[in-house]
Amino acid sequence: MKSYPDRAVVIRTWPLGESDRIVTLFTREHGKIRAVAKGVRGAKSRISGLIQPTSELDLLLYRGRELDVIQQASLLQAHLARVGVDPGQFGSALEWLEAIDNLTVDRHPDPVVYELMNRGLRLLADEPAPSLLGALLMRLLDIEGYAPNLSVCGLCGSAVGVFVGFDFASSAPRCSGCGGEPVGPAVFVKTASVLAHRVSEVLVDENVPSGREFEAFAIRLVKEVVGRGLRSTGVVASLLDAGPAQNDSC
Ligand SMILES: [Zn+2]
Repeated sequence: MKSYPDRAVVIRTWPLGESDRIVTLFTREHGKIRAVAKGVRGAKSRISGLIQPTSELDLLLYRGRELDVIQQASLLQAHLARVGVDPGQFGSALEWLEAIDNLTVDRHPDPVVYELMNRGLRLLADEPAPSLLGALLMRLLDIEGYAPNLSVCGLCGSAVGVFVGFDFASSAPRCSGCGGEPVGPAVFVKTASVLAHRVSEVLVDENVPSGREFEAFAIRLVKEVVGRGLRSTGVVASLLDAGPAQNDSC
């Protein structure tokens, strides 16, 4: 019996052949998996509307050799995959899911990330604070072991505590004498708050430019980690590398 039940959030989808889709799912019990949804691009498909990024689904899956197969699906939460969602909010949700995709490895159960993913999607839909995405990404980086060490300047070791720059290659801050790329003080304050599990202090800040700067900083950190080659290169990745990946479902 190779069928198994699980619940999962749809991270992204790609068309496969005439009527199928490959779906990246982050499941609660089995971590990140890739599965085929057969026949979902036909007009008669009952589940095609469910298999959208951000949706949380109750699934019956069949364990295949390389890709699993979605046998049954029902909707638990649409999150942002619903009519009337602000495009900016949906874009933030896709950025959030892409980071989860990039920072996790296949078939590694991670209930903490699963809960954070769902909580993040809920907040992005209902309470989209300016610093929310930055806080979520920083929390994820921390969980996955990629949080920056903000205790000392990465170059001279000074523990002066006031940093004005950051070196993304080494993921370390820089004091005023050591250069680095300029980073505003609010970014360091917010990063430290998230790493100290004081996320609520970050979310109350309604300053939009400050939130954007924090978000850009966190996105850059994620990209640097991914650039170091964490991303898995399984069968689907190599298949997708053959042509431009496109997510045509959003
Ligand atoms: Zn220094």
